[in-house]
Amino acid sequence: MTTFSDSRASDRSPAAASPQSGDPAVAAADPQRLTTPRALVEAGLAPPAALAGLEAVAQRYAIGLTPALRRLIDPTDPGDPIARQFVPDPRELRRDPAELDDPIGDDARSPIEGLVHRYPDRVLIKLVAVCAVYCRFCFRRERIGPGAGRLSAAAFAAALDYVRARPQIWEVILTGGDPLTLSPRRVAQATAAIAAIGHVRTIRWHTRLPVAAPERITPALARALAASDRTVVVAIHANHPRELTAEARAACRRLTARGLLLVSQTVLLKGVNDDVEVLDALMRAFVEARIKPYYLHHGDLAPGAAHWRTSIAEGQALMRGLRARLSGLALPTYVLDIPGGHGKVPIEDRSLRPDGQGGYWVADPAGVERPYRDRLA
Ligand SMILES: *Cc1c(COP(=O)(O)O)cnc(C)c1O
Ligand code: SF4
Repeated sequence: MTTFSDSRASDRSPAAASPQSGDPAVAAADPQRLTTPRALVEAGLAPPAALAGLEAVAQRYAIGLTPALRRLIDPTDPGDPIARQFVPDPRELRRDPAELDDPIGDDARSPIEGLVHRYPDRVLIKLVAVCAVYCRFCFRRERIGPGAGRLSAAAFAAALDYVRARPQIWEVILTGGDPLTLSPRRVAQATAAIAAIGHVRTIRWHTRLPVAAPERITPALARALAASDRTVVVAIHANHPRELTAEARAACRRLTARGLLLVSQTVLLKGVNDDVEVLDALMRAFVEARIKPYYLHHGDLAPGAAHWRTSIAEGQALMRGLRARLSGLALPTYVLDIPGGHGKVPIEDRSLRPDGQGGYWVADPAGVERPYRDRLA
């Protein structure tokens, strides 16, 4: 039944226990990848005096920075927006009491291991717990890392049985970790197994690999993702326009050449992209790479991520700025994943205010309110 027959059992040991041992595929493909505080210091990405503080963070949370992203860092810029996303910060160990190990409430909606079913017509399957890079603000940071392995063959088979038994499931979303760290052979096996379920019409992969390690988006991987009679979507996570390099765009072209639909995901991050010019450039870069901007996520209540978060009012102001500047094609939806597992909701202000007489005031892109009333037959 399962196609993941040679998977080893997953090992849910703490994330940073053993930086390389549980992560052979990624490590082998990327010997230049930085995975320890010492490597970051030796690369000039942190001062030697910071080593002890970074070691304390590394006890708890995994580190990973690929050559493709490392090359984008200007080590002379203390606020470099790429370095900030991947070089640990001692503030990660400061915990706000409102922060949650499971900020978006996946566990409450997980009927079986590795599968989350929150919306009737779509499920998430967490295929792997490893990533090529470890984003410091990750909302799944308590669950991922090189020691955490991947879904066992038996658990993947059970997830497929769950989907097969529920005809209302129209979309299967593969996530993790980063599921494109799997080999093309495994990706092809997963695609074939899911596409064999008649009622699943859409397969979606969530990944950071096209920007984190574009050379790993090989023609073989692109071929493995394609399923001829299904819509296959690749949701690409990127947070700063600098991440959309020529290499990343070429990786995206290898995916679109196979007929895959590309959409974006961005986390709103203080000091990285909480600026209308930066978001404008990022959204245009997505469209130019044939990636439809999909979500701008409000920062989740991930542990130790307070220094990343903006207020909702700041996010709404940024969205008003984007709406005044960008084509609809380039606009993402600003969403909040309501803590506790209540789902994602758009939180851009509706720009619509009842006028008290059955009509509305509608704010135009410049913020000027215009009257509107329904005219019904
Ligand atoms: C975000 C999410 C999805 C996908 O939601 P879309 O809004 O359709 O992108 C599906 N399942 C779960 C559990 C999610 O958190
Ligand atoms: S790539 Fe995704 S899952 Fe991995 S650390 Fe970054 S945000 Fe988390």
